[in-house]
Amino acid sequence: MRKTKIICTIGPATSDFDMLSKLAAAGMDIVRLNMSHGDHESAARVIKAVKTLNRKSDKPIAILMDTQGPEIRTGDLASELELKNGSEITISVRDNVDVESSSFHIHYDDLLDTVNPGDRITVDNGIINLQVIEKHPDGHMKCRVIDGGILKSKRHVNLPGIRVNLPAITKKDRADIEFAMAEQLDFIALSFVREADDIRELKALMGDKAGKIKIIAKIEDQSGVANLEEILQEADGIMVARGDLGVEINVAELPNVQRRIARLCAEHGKRCIVATHLLESMIENPIPTRAEVTDVANAIYEEVDAVMLSGETTIGKYPVRCVEQLVEIAETTESVPGLGFTRNLILNNEKQHLAVTAVQLAESLGAAGIVVITRRGYMADYVTNCHPQQTRIYAFTNDSQTRRRLTLNRNLSAYRTAFSNDPEKTLHTAFDVLKDRAGLNAGDKVVVISDVLAGFGVEAIQIRSLP
Ligand code: PEP
Repeated sequence: MRKTKIICTIGPATSDFDMLSKLAAAGMDIVRLNMSHGDHESAARVIKAVKTLNRKSDKPIAILMDTQGPEIRTGDLASELELKNGSEITISVRDNVDVESSSFHIHYDDLLDTVNPGDRITVDNGIINLQVIEKHPDGHMKCRVIDGGILKSKRHVNLPGIRVNLPAITKKDRADIEFAMAEQLDFIALSFVREADDIRELKALMGDKAGKIKIIAKIEDQSGVANLEEILQEADGIMVARGDLGVEINVAELPNVQRRIARLCAEHGKRCIVATHLLESMIENPIPTRAEVTDVANAIYEEVDAVMLSGETTIGKYPVRCVEQLVEIAETTESVPGLGFTRNLILNNEKQHLAVTAVQLAESLGAAGIVVITRRGYMADYVTNCHPQQTRIYAFTNDSQTRRRLTLNRNLSAYRTAFSNDPEKTLHTAFDVLKDRAGLNAGDKVVVISDVLAGFGVEAIQIRSLP
């Protein structure tokens, strides 16, 4: 049973019901709506399709909404602009500045105050690189083209190492967050999180309407990396957003940063997602490169909760094959025990201690599963944090949204069942599901951890044989 979960960004290649069904059948666990593209209308269509799919399926798909964040883009161009290596180009920050036609706009009012001669401006995810030569107070500046290319409209701009003077949560993000709450989505991924206050701001904004939505902090620049530990305290999980991160920091540092994030998440019991360029070549080709397969496997050795596809499933030619390929890499990589790295989970509360005990017991008994009966999913999180190596976690909840959000947890299968006032009845319903749908058999030993056994709020552990 695959441990690593798969997130697919949905776009033009995959937004209809038929393709969503195929991705789900191939192994997609979570749909990602990237609010940098598309509007509420198109997102609502995908959400409706996923809800329809979930009504028909016994393995519901969760939905993660990813905010655009304080993103800077180039302006519209009448036609594509060729930027030649070594040439000089004019950039304006205001549309009304009269500059020659071989120039372009960057939509960021504070650009001139933010950069200085010698600074680097990176366009289109690092493909085009410019160096600032001089600034003019009328709202334009001259740059040297270091790495040229063909510039199209509305390309993504990064200012590596420079703190961008834009709010952590923009006006557009606020509207998107309201939308996510109204739709009761499962996760909000906040882009360009630079410090813990950004997450606190999101929580304050969401207030009571947050419900059970979990917050994922996207780490995409140097500030996010520097403030990782404080961000971890506030967020439910971290996304290693390697697209922007690979431009904002020296790309050679990316593997170290990914590993550090994975380790910190494991220590602090937080979910971890590795995103971007996992199977990039499969946007065009039916098979991945050897390096891509190894990269995915490395994330799996790091025991992250999920890996995420972007362009591969939004505009790629082979979205379903990409998911199938991730499934195959995950199952193959996970089949050899002992290749992962060591983790030292910080034990800072009693429930986490109990989960460690339940996992140790299950692993030493060679149990067929760890059964968690949980209302809001917290005990299921504590058990996930222990990273059991041989034992699957089976979480049972009476709440649909909790069940969906638990799909992110590594090595965990979640089910929704009715809870009874009689703990034995609740357990027997779970045991029936294990036999009917999880392939367990009568006589199989499981370790149960829950507060339904000893009374609400009192967690207990039992060893049980399936009847
Ligand atoms: C990334 O930068 O890797 C990422 C996931 O964010 P986005 O797709 O929003 O740029």
